[in-house]
Amino acid sequence: MGIHLFWDSRVPIGLSRPVSEELSAVLEMPVSRIDNGIFPLEGFDPVRNQYDAVKILTKLDMFRRRMPGLFKPADVDLEYYNKFNHIYEKVLLVTPADLYEPLADFVYGLAYPRLGVSVVSPYRLKNEFYGRHEDDSDLIARLVKEGAHEIGHLFGLGHCDNPGCIMYCPRNLDDLDRKRNYFCGKCRLQLNGDKAEEDLF
Ligand SMILES: [Zn+2]
Ligand SMILES: [Zn+2]
Repeated sequence: MGIHLFWDSRVPIGLSRPVSEELSAVLEMPVSRIDNGIFPLEGFDPVRNQYDAVKILTKLDMFRRRMPGLFKPADVDLEYYNKFNHIYEKVLLVTPADLYEPLADFVYGLAYPRLGVSVVSPYRLKNEFYGRHEDDSDLIARLVKEGAHEIGHLFGLGHCDNPGCIMYCPRNLDDLDRKRNYFCGKCRLQLNGDKAEEDLF
């Protein structure tokens, strides 16, 4: 069981380590990092000038199946891995692209729990996007909250009513900044419960 942070190297590489360490702390799970390549994107919409996050996630799942060397634990049989990789290995891709999904103007990130893959983008998490001063620590904090939120979905968690909880669904950057870097008691229980169940496999 593991979480892979797949960091597209077009996103400032110096942020990958603090983000993976903070993600690991808030999830209370080990997070490994792949940050030496780029992930060619799918789903560009020239009218919106954005990328379809659903298409990116579908491609990410295919990519993972083709590259078991990157993601598969050494002691797991390949055939078994291909059948159950969505359970064993959760992937969070960090991409530079501006993302949307068909029902929304934009998304900060998206998860596809059935496939065990998720994506997050710094594009609309950067201060510069809103005409504010660049600040790495703001960006790191938002990537961690948004990344942990999507990984929470991969573990079966839904949205939470508590505005301070990671699983609260933010409508804008202020909502995201208001969230604290934690799972509320109810969400934490569910996260730990689902983890325990998966450990039985
Ligand atoms: Zn969500
Ligand atoms: Zn919660």
